Amino acid sequence: MNAGADMNRDTVDADIVVVGAGIVGLCTAAAVVHRGGRVVIVAPGDAPVSEASGGLIRRFDLDAGPLAELASASFDHLRAIASAYCAFQPSGALTLQYGHDPLPTHVRTRTVPYASQSLNQRWPQITVAPNVIGVFESGAGWIDAPRMLVAERGDLRARGACFVHDRAVRVITTQGRVRGVVTAAGERIMARRVVLAAGAGSAALARTAQVSYPLRTRKIGYCYFRVGRDRIRNLPSVVDRVGAMWVRPCTNPDFVLAGHKVQVFGVPAVVRHEISDSDVRQIRTAVAPVFPLVADAPVVGGVTAYDAAPDSATPGPVHHCANPHGLTIAAGWNGGGFKAAPAIAELALEDRS
Ligand SMILES: Cc1cc2nc3c(=O)[nH]c(=O)nc-3n(C[C@H](O)[C@H](O)[C@H](O)COP(=O)(O)OP(=O)(O)OC[C@H]3O[C@@H](n4cnc5c(N)ncnc54)[C@H](O)[C@@H]3O)c2cc1C
Repeated sequence: MNAGADMNRDTVDADIVVVGAGIVGLCTAAAVVHRGGRVVIVAPGDAPVSEASGGLIRRFDLDAGPLAELASASFDHLRAIASAYCAFQPSGALTLQYGHDPLPTHVRTRTVPYASQSLNQRWPQITVAPNVIGVFESGAGWIDAPRMLVAERGDLRARGACFVHDRAVRVITTQGRVRGVVTAAGERIMARRVVLAAGAGSAALARTAQVSYPLRTRKIGYCYFRVGRDRIRNLPSVVDRVGAMWVRPCTNPDFVLAGHKVQVFGVPAVVRHEISDSDVRQIRTAVAPVFPLVADAPVVGGVTAYDAAPDSATPGPVHHCANPHGLTIAAGWNGGGFKAAPAIAELALEDRS
């Protein structure tokens, strides 16, 4: 195998095949290279969902689910990689919640709680009701996702990882063991371990190995509002658990990026760099009560995308299959897959044999 080359052969051998070049696939491949292993990454050339990510990273999260734990464990690592690529913006993160909600015990980070009045004084752009508090995590922030992914791919190539620019269509198994994958062009990529990090696409690939890993698509998007740099100076990333919305500064200092949570499932697995008028209206309605500057700010673009959503039968963000042995599924679930990716990658490489 040529170090750092993009492969185009009938059969390629590696220690591990990673399917998917989103944040989870790239973190997994980086962890393999770090351990001295030979890795082949199979992914089509188009941009992964991860490139459209809002990229908010923080340790503090009220959700006690597996992603919150993994995000907390990932934080230092992710921030260090992003900083090395000049892709981390230390805006701080302000989580809004009801004052009577308990503070999480699983998050080991320094946070400062603000009652509504002092919060409104410190950040005059933000308005919250008297029964809402803000928990500020000063070390948190957001990542310029496209910049980080491009840099990470280049770094992996330089460190000997190989990219096969194609879709995987089937997992190869014999006698209860995984042997590799077949691509759409018929290329066979052989390895003793395969990690499916293909986002929502992992469910269909897993089925080719008779493994059930339910994942469906869920709509997610955001828009850019032109608010003006003087009005958003020192704005932190804001995650509002009460109104299920979020807003953060942008690379362009005149803009904010804002989105809200929607319960729409089964959408097409495509990323569009545009947003409909009705989606903009819904985001404005959800965001304006907390961040009134968006009420009449012009919209200058947006993203309409999807994320991978589990259901109650999905085993976990990382699933090591007993049969076929050597097959692992590693998925960034909706809402928090980016910030949890390094810990997902580490778990995916845990040797269970
Ligand atoms: C608009 C938006 C905002 C978000 N904001 C945040 C946020 O602020 N913070 C946060 O933590 N998370 C956020 N998320 C969630 C997070 O971005 C995702 O959970 C995460 O990026 C998923 O990463 P992934 O590597 O699992 O999947 P993906 O990025 O979807 O990557 C999957 C890869 O697999 C490839 N693939 C698919 N099928 C095949 C196949 N058959 N063969 C080969 N390759 C295949 C794809 O081309 C792609 O390269 C957001 C998501 C969106 C869409």
